[in-house]
Amino acid sequence: EKLQGPGNGKEEKILVLVRLRPLSEKEIAQPEVADWECINSTTILYRNSLQECSGLPTAYSFDRVFRGDCTTREVYEEGTKDIALSVVGGVNSTIFAYGQTSSGKTYTMNGITEYAVADIYDYIQRHEERAFVLKFSATEIYNEVVRDLLSTDNTPLRLLDDPERGTIIEKLTEETLRDWNHLKQLLSTCEAQRQIGETSLNETSSRSHQILRLTIESSAREFLGKGNSTTLAASVNFVDLAGSERASQALSVGQRLKEGCHINRSLLTLGTVIRKLSKGRHGHVNYRDSKLTRILQPALGGNARTAIICTLSPARSHVEQSRNTLLFASCAK
Ligand code: ADP
Ligand code: MG
Repeated sequence: EKLQGPGNGKEEKILVLVRLRPLSEKEIAQPEVADWECINSTTILYRNSLQECSGLPTAYSFDRVFRGDCTTREVYEEGTKDIALSVVGGVNSTIFAYGQTSSGKTYTMNGITEYAVADIYDYIQRHEERAFVLKFSATEIYNEVVRDLLSTDNTPLRLLDDPERGTIIEKLTEETLRDWNHLKQLLSTCEAQRQIGETSLNETSSRSHQILRLTIESSAREFLGKGNSTTLAASVNFVDLAGSERASQALSVGQRLKEGCHINRSLLTLGTVIRKLSKGRHGHVNYRDSKLTRILQPALGGNARTAIICTLSPARSHVEQSRNTLLFASCAK
């Protein structure tokens, strides 16, 4: 396969995917009803005979929709593999999971991250003509405070502006990966760190964003030590976003507004940035308005590649949040 170099000037549209999860056993027992159905590979339909005259849209179309019985492997292969692998050719990318709490963001992102890294290692093994260095870092943003998920030190990290490298996270641990097992170890460290947070700050994972970043540098072996003209460097970011119900709360009227805005400045700013990017990536984009968008700026817009997987609960009782998620997804495409 060809190595795609950076700076080809092509501006990509954001790839918008929707993944419906199945009803859980608990939901089935309640009993809960599933009102959403994917009728083909691009269209998802709301069918609730009780609400036929509500005037709200019943069909929504995206680049790709995945039924409740699709595996994460299928979502990865058909939706995000190309984007994740563009990193080996020097193109930055970001893959987001967006959706309400319990809709399947973590389930989806964990699988996709593993498949992507396995494929990246596979690629490296098949391209011995290049020397690769892989680095991994992991951060969490909670209430606009950035923490290092690879460190037991819970001190908030500062974002600094570097004239050459853009926004950098001060003192962030960046591990040089030895092999695939090393990465697996680091992923479980992150998970443990995230859970420690969860008991002290209740339900953190629904309120915080997690960014796993894999940076890959490569150079042609024949030129090693003879100048660096062929070095490619890029990052792929796997982002498990805070529950989107926080964003819609923030947009609702009254008391909740202020609290919601504070909790979810990053989620709201991401929405604005994505809407702007989806309209052609021209003019001013307000990356600087939140920590999440500052950190991800080099991997959003320009010739970076972006996919958003919107995860959806099929349950009738979640219809309002599901509609909000699809509205966000529609604005991104
Ligand atoms: P979120 O991160 O959005 O809060 P989770 O990923 O934790 O949601 O998913 C909630 C629950 O649903 C978990 O128990 C998870 O294993 C299950 N789940 C989510 N998506 C799927 C799916 N596509 N197929 C089967 N189970 C799923
Ligand atoms: Mg989660």
